Amino acid sequence: MISVSTPHREKCPRCGSGAVHLEWRERVNAQEVQDLWRCWDCKDEFVTIVTSDEKEPSATDKITERFFTNLLV
Ligand SMILES: [Zn+2]
Repeated sequence: MISVSTPHREKCPRCGSGAVHLEWRERVNAQEVQDLWRCWDCKDEFVTIVTSDEKEPSATDKITERFFTNLLV
């Protein structure tokens, strides 16, 4: 199996071609990155949004911790 360089393998929604390349990338916020793709075959452009599941460990952990502490006391 050869699955090396491209983490997100996109296909053109218009013609279904896999011959697309990443034209532009923009970080929307901490979790979302917007990719602009261009299709080599039909010259169409389309946008995908990549959402990362990475959560900031700090905020929720602290709240949970405090909550349990209050319960015990
Ligand atoms: Zn296309």
